[in-house]
Amino acid sequence: MLGLPDGVRGCLFDMDGVLTRTARIHAAAWRTAFDDFLREHAERTGVPFVPFDEVTDYERYVDGKKRLDGTRTFLAARGADLPEGSPDDPPGTPTLYGLSNRKNDLVSAYLDERGVEVFEGSARYVRAVRDAGLHRAVVSSSANTERVLAAAGLADLFEARIDGVVAQERGLAGKPDPDMYLAGAEALGLKPAEAAVFEDALAGVAAGRAGDFAFVVGVDRLGQADALREHGADIVITDLAQLLRP
Ligand SMILES: [Mg+2]
Repeated sequence: MLGLPDGVRGCLFDMDGVLTRTARIHAAAWRTAFDDFLREHAERTGVPFVPFDEVTDYERYVDGKKRLDGTRTFLAARGADLPEGSPDDPPGTPTLYGLSNRKNDLVSAYLDERGVEVFEGSARYVRAVRDAGLHRAVVSSSANTERVLAAAGLADLFEARIDGVVAQERGLAGKPDPDMYLAGAEALGLKPAEAAVFEDALAGVAAGRAGDFAFVVGVDRLGQADALREHGADIVITDLAQLLRP
């Protein structure tokens, strides 16, 4: 019925790009935050300005990761060495925290402006999972998870939430480390071998593979099925409803 192997008793869902169409909001926020910095960096150093690419740079360097890890990884790839700074650096300060805080402010503003769009096939699938008596958790690096789920009207469907806020409190490593997914399974009282992972990010499917979960479903929103498989997806689909059989 649900397209999952026997023995799976629960599902762990990434949020942005799996449940909600918010990956685009994140990509746009990263682009604005990084491009403003890269433009100044180009003027200061003479290095040519190359804008952040919302598809390739997003997927390769930042998608699915904790915000600070994303900032650090992308800037390192561009050869821009910034000091870490501190968590309360004002948004836009030329530090890893300053740029990360700017990105978060932009996400907040875009969420206010544009609202949250739900992938209808995902909502149907999660309801079917619930109706079949399987456990459900959201595992997202986003610090805005609670707010986005509420705005999407999906909050009631999940028994547990492991998000950027919880990861910070508990010192959990970000994806591609399996820490957050392992915490999600534990919150549902499940072993990894009893849980399926649903992910659209390369770092996320890699986390599912690293945690030895029963099944890793790659959700392909960007036309990167092969890369999802290479990073650990057992199957790749473009819509969760494809798993529902009549
Ligand atoms: Mg995602």
